[in-house]
Amino acid sequence: MTAKTNKGVTEQMITRATLFAVGLTAFAFGCSTEQTPAEEQQEIIDNLVQVGFPADDIMVTDGKVYVGRDAHVTLEASREMLVPVVSGPEQYRTTNLVSGKTKICVNPTSSFNNTSGFVSALDAAISAYNALPLVWDMARGPTSGCNANITATTMSGVGGSAGFPSGGNPYGTINIGTGLTSYSGNVKKHVIMHELGHTVGFRHSDYYNRAISCGSGGNEGSAGVGAILIPGTPSTAVVGGSVMNSCFRSTESGNWTSSDVTALNYLY
Ligand SMILES: [Zn+2]
Repeated sequence: MTAKTNKGVTEQMITRATLFAVGLTAFAFGCSTEQTPAEEQQEIIDNLVQVGFPADDIMVTDGKVYVGRDAHVTLEASREMLVPVVSGPEQYRTTNLVSGKTKICVNPTSSFNNTSGFVSALDAAISAYNALPLVWDMARGPTSGCNANITATTMSGVGGSAGFPSGGNPYGTINIGTGLTSYSGNVKKHVIMHELGHTVGFRHSDYYNRAISCGSGGNEGSAGVGAILIPGTPSTAVVGGSVMNSCFRSTESGNWTSSDVTALNYLY
């Protein structure tokens, strides 16, 4: 996610990919089933385009493929998106959710532990999840009894990034920008809640028009397969309406909104 007030910082870090530069030459001559990193990256991109993400919303940075600027998509997750969803009630979540987990441990790296205010913000974010009667609890590691693990580490800039679940597991990493040290504890908590929200399958509440929370920006992709409206939640986003809005404000409270609570209780 990005800071509305300082979003240029994060955007500069992301180099818009030359999406179709990877040729198919390798397929013509190779008989190995092992994909090269470039082939794997291209397959992820192809899968995302196939399920409806606009090509210009897909970005590659450091060899990783992202949608919506902060959501990393693995090869496995992109393949799962190709599986048709049985449409139930209208529901904004990804196709993939966490399943069969009761204790999700969030394990900080030393860089995370050493960044001012991050550990207390992580504890507060975990408490916000645990205050709801969900099928799983979160805990800060190192601890025991974990049946899913997420690494909490740092990145440069003001914002964060994570990814979507696959194989029933939450995405394995959240990256939190060290530029957030100059923001309040509540903002740090908000960004961590947001990135953890991606790891368990939440898309941006304003995914269809990032301008709602960011002031500018377009549609991350209508992708019927990848953005499912959760029953009981509004289909339209407003500023401050959800922790899962694309951009945050310097005034964020670090509290769930009522529709966030509805969505979490519905899914988990
Ligand atoms: Zn986000």
